[in-house]
Amino acid sequence: MIIAIDGPAASGKGTLGRRLADHLGLAHLDTGLLYRAVACALIDRKTALSDIAAATHAAETLTPEQLADPRLRGAAMGEFASVISAYQPVRDALLAFQHQFARQQPGAVLDGRDIGTVVCPDADVKLFITAAPEERARRRHLELQNRGENTAYDTILSDILRRDGRDMTRSTAPLKAAADALTLDTTHLDAEAAFKAALALVAARTGKTDLAS
Ligand code: C5P
Repeated sequence: MIIAIDGPAASGKGTLGRRLADHLGLAHLDTGLLYRAVACALIDRKTALSDIAAATHAAETLTPEQLADPRLRGAAMGEFASVISAYQPVRDALLAFQHQFARQQPGAVLDGRDIGTVVCPDADVKLFITAAPEERARRRHLELQNRGENTAYDTILSDILRRDGRDMTRSTAPLKAAADALTLDTTHLDAEAAFKAALALVAARTGKTDLAS
């Protein structure tokens, strides 16, 4: 079974993806980490983010070990990732990695921006997770504070809006819900309620009513 989860920045799709995967015994890939890791490789090599050839090479040579780097989760890396993710050759290079991950048995949950539309168009279930930008900024603010990163709420909100704008308007694989995606707005849901609602959508789409146990 393949579950594709897409949505804007800080919509909670990563947490949801992890919980769904754990509950259903599937593997989980936060594909945002791939783009963050490519950006991080460029930063480490002191290479400009505008260097498409270097970004493509970093994407082609990416190893799973690089995804464990805690620096990838920082706010700045999200912004850098959004810049290099607009390059088509970078996206092409990362496609093979994602396809291979999705093919494993008994299945996988992948979350990102283009999973239901480009990476896994034949996914069994496609979810599009949204939440009001102010609520997403509030959650991300809390998360960064817990990581010891003291970025102001207003800065986080404007970063999120700028990143969403860039991700939605780029010409290659823009952020959007697949035509057959089920949308879940988590603005008024905590993590537990969002998980239960998502599980109910998976059950409805797959016809498996025993998923909650
Ligand atoms: O999900 P996360 O915030 O970690 O993603 C960082 C950036 O990577 C996004 O803003 C987006 O530009 C890019 N991304 C993407 N396609 C994906 C996942 C992430 O373009 N499937």
